[in-house]
Amino acid sequence: MPNFSLPDAVFEEAAARFPTPFHLYDEAGIRRRARLLQKAFSWCPDFREYFAVKALPNPAILRILKEEGCGLDCSSETELMLAEACGFSGDEIMFSANAMPDEEFAFARRLGGYVNLDDISHIDILARSGGIPETVCCRYNPGGDFRIGTAIMGNPGEAKYGFTYDQLTEGLARLKAMGAKRFGLHAFLSSNNTDNAYYPTLAKTLFEAASSLAEKTGLPLAFVNLSGGVGIPYRPDQEPTDILAVGEAVEKVYRACFPEGGVAIKTELGRWMTGPEGWLVAHATHHKDTYRHYIGLDACAVNLMRPAMYGAYHHITVCGKREAPCDRVYDVTGCLCENNDKFAIERALPEIVEGDLVVIHDTGAHGFSMGYNYNGRLRSAEILRTADGGFRMIRRAETPADYFATLDIDEAAPALGVTPHTR
Ligand SMILES: *Cc1c(COP(=O)(O)O)cnc(C)c1O
Repeated sequence: MPNFSLPDAVFEEAAARFPTPFHLYDEAGIRRRARLLQKAFSWCPDFREYFAVKALPNPAILRILKEEGCGLDCSSETELMLAEACGFSGDEIMFSANAMPDEEFAFARRLGGYVNLDDISHIDILARSGGIPETVCCRYNPGGDFRIGTAIMGNPGEAKYGFTYDQLTEGLARLKAMGAKRFGLHAFLSSNNTDNAYYPTLAKTLFEAASSLAEKTGLPLAFVNLSGGVGIPYRPDQEPTDILAVGEAVEKVYRACFPEGGVAIKTELGRWMTGPEGWLVAHATHHKDTYRHYIGLDACAVNLMRPAMYGAYHHITVCGKREAPCDRVYDVTGCLCENNDKFAIERALPEIVEGDLVVIHDTGAHGFSMGYNYNGRLRSAEILRTADGGFRMIRRAETPADYFATLDIDEAAPALGVTPHTR
């Protein structure tokens, strides 16, 4: 079931103060989830959540998560800059490497963060870009299918990420020879998975691989990083992940694999942490009846790309009509010149009239941050509903000047309101 923790009055109050569209995030909800996760893993020494910045890269949110004891998982120069600006440093930062420039490895090292290597070739990159640290993390790709019981939950064999087991054996031995004192092991094998068995199954794979690698290479195991991928119930008929039960089940696997303890656990949840605590708020501005019935919103796919990109389901409600019968069937669209710009296709909804306030649920992760500027459409504002029940704009909406800012090298710049650079 999507998150219905906020009454319509909150969205109406926000829309009376700020022009639509905007994403609204609930501070109290985000704090509740961070605390619940800590509780689920409170049995584990040195547990820490490294929030995946890409899910919701707003400094106000990152500072809230810092107050809750979280670190950050960063994967780019700008994400590292955000982490630094929000006061994260040292072991509060995880840098998840990929095919990125050498300078980004060096930047992560300068901040003192953990570097999570994605490939055996990254060992040399790290050696020349910041140096090999005492604690190094590597990403494991077991290949094949990832199964929970008999169900296929992911296809690591087709994923671009991670070392093979043999590469880990060789790579960790090399890292040890280059000065590493201990290692962490990471894997991300399934995305948006609400099955309570996901983390425990992944944990078992990682605990066993990490134990045998430590034994083979003589490099001690410091931590296992369970990464992200825990899902949320976007659809009304979906059960939420029971994170306390997940923590308990991971503990059972942990006790069996590490009877002596001493191994830390890290997570990098993005979607689970903030996804249900965000809503895209828009007005219905158009209504059209042809072969189907269409409702046009003042928001479009640049504000929330997931439906257009993945056909993802996002629940939609209409303020003041939560109890009304869903006796109409609409395609709910934006204004892009792209037929996939639809928030919902043939969705049963109450009757919608122009001026209605429409709420798209579960936009708090991979929502605003996947935004783009197609058709010259601009990114929206982000509003925080603060823990005391107030509202705070934590990012303004883009203006045309923002869109044109990178044309500051063109003769048309002044006419577009941009100050030209002299070169
Ligand atoms: C995207 C990502 C995450 C977060 O994924 P969610 O699905 O939001 O939980 C965590 N770790 C890494 C390395 C990622 O790329």
